[in-house]
Amino acid sequence: MRILVSNDDGIYSPGLAALAEVASEFGSVRVVAPDGERSSTGHAITASRPLSYRRTQIGGFEAFRVNGTPADCVALGAHLWEKVDLVLSGLNLGLNLGNGIWHSGTLAAAKQAALLGLRGIALSAPATAEPDFAPFKPWMRRVIEALLPHNDLCLTNVNFPRNPRGLVWTRVSVRRYDGQIVPTTDPLGRPLYWFSVTPIEGAEDGTDRWAVEQQWVSVTPLRLDLTDEQLLARLQASRPLQEGIATAVSPRRSSPEAAEAVKREEAETPVADPQVR
Ligand code: MN
Repeated sequence: MRILVSNDDGIYSPGLAALAEVASEFGSVRVVAPDGERSSTGHAITASRPLSYRRTQIGGFEAFRVNGTPADCVALGAHLWEKVDLVLSGLNLGLNLGNGIWHSGTLAAAKQAALLGLRGIALSAPATAEPDFAPFKPWMRRVIEALLPHNDLCLTNVNFPRNPRGLVWTRVSVRRYDGQIVPTTDPLGRPLYWFSVTPIEGAEDGTDRWAVEQQWVSVTPLRLDLTDEQLLARLQASRPLQEGIATAVSPRRSSPEAAEAVKREEAETPVADPQVR
């Protein structure tokens, strides 16, 4: 099995080295990770300048440090290394729970794997775990062992508490959002703002937040399709738009000609910033 290891903390993060060591027990490991910190960059890709890499070594493993985002790293790694079977992202220095997963670069690397039809697992630990990742290694091993047999698990978000009691399946906590703008001032008294995260207490049962609060390893299966199926069905029934006409006059299947026309229009769309060409 070929395992690509990435992260968003940067290629020299000790969390990545710990994950790569555990991964090597399951297959051949190659590290492709950002050349510096890219935390909270979400699923950004680098489209306005080219990507490149430098070869290096991380914990004895072949490694590539990329001047891009976590998603860039996985896309480039999968391109350069044929037949990647699994992408592991982490071990992140900081939990990726609840609505925070929207900002997570750690999860984005795993998500990029899923977008490419590969399997992706994101692994995160409390920020205070540094520098001793040894206690998490047996738990990372257990998680990989538990997830590998499930071929239908394309995208999984895993969070470790400080002292795990075991593994549980969870869903994403979406009740509240912990992102907050905190105002301050610079030395001259001018306003500055920190985009900050404040811990949320009292998570819903069975969620990722709840699991980590209770010292369980949270294992959340995710999907790429964000469509709200129930709402869609309700809207189509109660507030139809032009679905009736659309299905009557448009062929049900996409035609190569129509797809080609959309592609042409996209290609002709002017770039917003003329400097970026
Ligand atoms: Mn990070």
